Amino acid sequence: MPKSLLDYEEIVGKINISILRQLAENLKGARVVHVNSTRVGGGVAEILDWLISLMNELGLEASWEVISGPPEFYFTTKTFHNALQGKPASLTKTMVEAYEETNRQTADKLRGTLEDADFVFVHDPQPAALLEYCPNRKGKWIWRCHIDASRPYRRVWKYLEEKVEKYDASIFSMPSFAQRLPHPQFIIAPSIDPLSNKNCELDPTEIRSALETYGIENSKPVLTQISRFDRFKDPIGVIQAFNMLRETIDADLILAGGGASDDPEGQMVLEEVLEAANGDRQIHILNLPGDAHRMINALQRASTIVLQKSLQEGFGLTVTEALWKEKPVIGGNVGGIRLQVHNHHTGFLVNTPEGAALRMRYLLRHPEELEYMGKTGKRFVQENFLLTRHLREYLTLMLGLRRGLANYLITE
Ligand code: UDP
Repeated sequence: MPKSLLDYEEIVGKINISILRQLAENLKGARVVHVNSTRVGGGVAEILDWLISLMNELGLEASWEVISGPPEFYFTTKTFHNALQGKPASLTKTMVEAYEETNRQTADKLRGTLEDADFVFVHDPQPAALLEYCPNRKGKWIWRCHIDASRPYRRVWKYLEEKVEKYDASIFSMPSFAQRLPHPQFIIAPSIDPLSNKNCELDPTEIRSALETYGIENSKPVLTQISRFDRFKDPIGVIQAFNMLRETIDADLILAGGGASDDPEGQMVLEEVLEAANGDRQIHILNLPGDAHRMINALQRASTIVLQKSLQEGFGLTVTEALWKEKPVIGGNVGGIRLQVHNHHTGFLVNTPEGAALRMRYLLRHPEELEYMGKTGKRFVQENFLLTRHLREYLTLMLGLRRGLANYLITE
């Protein structure tokens, strides 16, 4: 059930809702199209779910389109994703053709919608080539990069750069991800919806029954990482850390994830994870459906500590979700996790499985710190990473671009 702005007043305060209405006054009727590559799974879909409906409530005409193609398309775009995160890859002619053909066909299908829109937000590399197949576009086109592109693999970035530089602006989640591009770049951190099924308050019985569903006792500490099965999320490193922890402390580990429809590597990584778990009954590997939001909410709430041991991370909504639920996070010392995890305040940043094991052990032996960090984390999210701040920055960006304010910079 989509929430209305009024529903958020209690959490973010009347004034923040009033600011949104004021900003949107000048954007009434603006046609806004968001394009990404999946409706479920992953952080982008999570954000678009609420962003579209709140933009509409504010009087804009927002819609959400999804690019989809054959397996070769996803293979290429996953290569882009990994290469933007620095992984060397070669881009063959067949891959380029598959990518461009899907973008061309999608542009043909959506031409009217895209070319007539006042603002088109193209998320990540998958639909980035749409712009060049929409020569009669009227509005402003913005490339929204959710990936840690701070050190992209140059040869692949060179190809993508040619697509991206034609946009009117781009958005990155952190200053260090920004690139040398001939247009204004905006820095906007993502956010969570505190009232969604993923983040709303839950009854303790629902939380308990989530653990029971998977045969997990709640008498021992529960450590959890929720993530797509992706090597950059380092699920194997989490298992290694857990095995080290268990030399001294008994606990359960939950590795819960699922596939995003635009991620062709998920199944392979899941198999690697199962192998690394080696049948250990205290390692619970859950392959969840894309709409298991309440279950994920319950598992996060049932956890003692949440892990997000990524080796590279655009932002890490799972971190925000966990902090909102008053859980300290032990996170990889990378990308957007650094914006959210502050040592000794909201959790710990770690670089190795050994580091993660050490911090888990420390926290489990200092319950008073668990509590302090939980409370600090929730407050930190409340002040920085809720959807109203995010929406406000989108509106400000649109107003800025419409009025032709070059180099207009939004900071968090
Ligand atoms: N998620 C989910 N089901 C899964 C795995 C992840 O709903 O099986 C959600 C997770 O709760 C979070 C988002 O997908 O809201 C992942 O966003 P994040 O920024 O952490 O990582 P991404 O997948 O975008 O790299």
